[in-house]
Amino acid sequence: MGMNIAIDGPAGAGKSTIAKKLAKDLGYIYVDTGAMYRAMAYYFMQNHIAADDTEKIAKACETVDISIEYVNGEQSVLLNGENVNGVIRNEEVGNMASATSVYPVVREKLVDLQQRLAQKADVIMDGRDIGTVVLPNADVKIYLTASSAVRAKRRYDELVAKGQECDLDAIEKDIIDRDYRDMHRETSPLRQAEDAVLLDTSNLDIDGVVDAMKEIIRRA
Ligand code: C5P
Repeated sequence: MGMNIAIDGPAGAGKSTIAKKLAKDLGYIYVDTGAMYRAMAYYFMQNHIAADDTEKIAKACETVDISIEYVNGEQSVLLNGENVNGVIRNEEVGNMASATSVYPVVREKLVDLQQRLAQKADVIMDGRDIGTVVLPNADVKIYLTASSAVRAKRRYDELVAKGQECDLDAIEKDIIDRDYRDMHRETSPLRQAEDAVLLDTSNLDIDGVVDAMKEIIRRA
């Protein structure tokens, strides 16, 4: 059993940026679970499976193969053996991931993969249900959050930096809708685990958050 650090929180709270940096500094493996839900969503989109077509979604879960590999410490998500990292980081796939991550068949498949990864190595894993469901016995649990305006601005800057066209108000609305769905779904809703430390990053820069996290980890 490796050392496990669980990071949960809403979209755009800075989870992946921070977790990646922390993993590098501490020599852990970073596991981005959102990317797995995105890869599944991408498969549904490519195969014209609607978010409410539960029959086809269940069928697809039986046959689709999701795995991950690490190249130079970077996680790649493989969908049926093909690296899909380059096509899953956009709002369309994010929204589809949120709409289809409500289904237990989808979650069971990916949670199993996540738990196997955490058993093998020291991991920093981020997502929505890591501290509550995936790694309930994690050594450290952190719940990262920030105001929706701050989170929308961060997402906006990230997309603009990648050369994607986007609209700040539309992004904030998307974020609010996505959070609502993630927090109110029946299976594994997003919530702070009872033993998680809450960290609001609204007024912190990246280094400030990383330092605060290191302090939390040290104390644990
Ligand atoms: O974190 P990211 O924006 O990549 O996640 C995309 C979507 O995947 C989330 O909105 C959420 O619905 C789903 N997700 C989840 N459980 C996780 C990680 C992501 O339900 N552990």
